[in-house]
Amino acid sequence: MDFRPTEEQTLLRRTVREFAETEIRPHVREWDEDQKFSPELMPKLAALGLLGIQYPEEYGGAGMSALDYCICLEELARVDPGIALSVAAHNGLCSAHLFRFGSEAQKQQFLVPLARGEKLGAWGLTESTSGSDAASMRTTATRTGECWVLNGSKTFITHGRISDVMVVMAVTDRAAGRKGVSAFVVERGTPGLAAGKKEDKLGMRASDTSEVLFDNCRIPADAMVGAEGQGFVNTMEVLEAGRIGIAPLAVGLAQGAYEAALRYARDRKSFGKPIASFQAIQWKLADAATKIEAARLLTYQAAFLKGRGQRTTLESSMAKLYASEIAVKVADDCVQIHGGYGFVKDYPAEKYFRDVKLTTIGEGTSEIQRLVIARQLLSA
Ligand SMILES: Cc1cc2nc3c(=O)[nH]c(=O)nc-3n(C[C@H](O)[C@H](O)[C@H](O)COP(=O)(O)OP(=O)(O)OC[C@H]3O[C@@H](n4cnc5c(N)ncnc54)[C@H](O)[C@@H]3O)c2cc1C
Repeated sequence: MDFRPTEEQTLLRRTVREFAETEIRPHVREWDEDQKFSPELMPKLAALGLLGIQYPEEYGGAGMSALDYCICLEELARVDPGIALSVAAHNGLCSAHLFRFGSEAQKQQFLVPLARGEKLGAWGLTESTSGSDAASMRTTATRTGECWVLNGSKTFITHGRISDVMVVMAVTDRAAGRKGVSAFVVERGTPGLAAGKKEDKLGMRASDTSEVLFDNCRIPADAMVGAEGQGFVNTMEVLEAGRIGIAPLAVGLAQGAYEAALRYARDRKSFGKPIASFQAIQWKLADAATKIEAARLLTYQAAFLKGRGQRTTLESSMAKLYASEIAVKVADDCVQIHGGYGFVKDYPAEKYFRDVKLTTIGEGTSEIQRLVIARQLLSA
């Protein structure tokens, strides 16, 4: 495997970095305080192809590779992890589900405007009583004549209140357990679909998260995505690829935190010297740089294999687990290196520290990644 970037990938990284520096960096504090995904960013992200990164051009996408997808998310997360989370949920969950399992008609109707960035996507799996144990969901879809009727609610949904299109999982046959879950595509404005509570979050506040409510929400029979009863199995496949979105997000976040720490360590003087001259600080920086590089390589390996069309259950979980856990450590050390200034909002350290925690929770907690990894090891 050769992970040296091609000329196109170097250019891609530079382009997304410049975009993030000019269009996102000046608003990071404001969006964090306002706690909302900024709608004016949508056309700008779309113009760079960042809302349809890995989808073919015939579906309105930018036709980039799985590795390119990682580069884009790293560069967004380096500046604002919340924006990277929104881009990852739109691309890697909602659009990915439609691309992998949707009919041609669903791709034309929903994926094309999502990939062009004309519409914003959401993906609803989690419920208030079922997160890690997603198969025990309570939301139902009941067939009545030519319609499916959705009842229930979803919790912690990225873009839940503001999406135009949502892929939602619901029970179609309770007795069949995991094989009784199906996926559906629902459009904003459908009667019976309503936004629930907007979450007031610790971090990732530039990304909108809310509850979604279904009260006798009638959707057409052809709104089912994939085969009946395959919704949960398909969801596991979507998440396997989705984790190669959270992993680069964590790598990019760690990179941003590390760079902030390095900058501060060079500037800040203590006992008459820059704190970067103290071995205690140098070791933190050396450990951070080494761990980030290792996490990046695990992430690129998973993306490389995914790009070859392979299943990557083991590699995706290893990359997501490792990248998120080292990112938590790097963000912690970034605050420590900033001392008291790491605790106040004038410096970026405290925001990385708040944002990073989501990476060990979303798209499967660290405990669930270890469970997936162990199952793979034991079944080999
Ligand atoms: C900002 C944000 C955005 C999100 N976006 C989305 C989205 O767009 N769509 C969506 O569907 N969901 C989304 N989620 C939900 C997220 O995927 C879940 O929060 C996550 O899967 C964990 O589920 P839970 O919160 O119910 O925790 P629980 O499953 O209740 O877990 C609680 C604790 O128990 C541990 N645990 C649970 N089961 C086991 C086990 N078998 N072995 C060991 N430990 C276990 C967990 O690891 C965790 O530490 C989002 C969450 C957040 C915070």
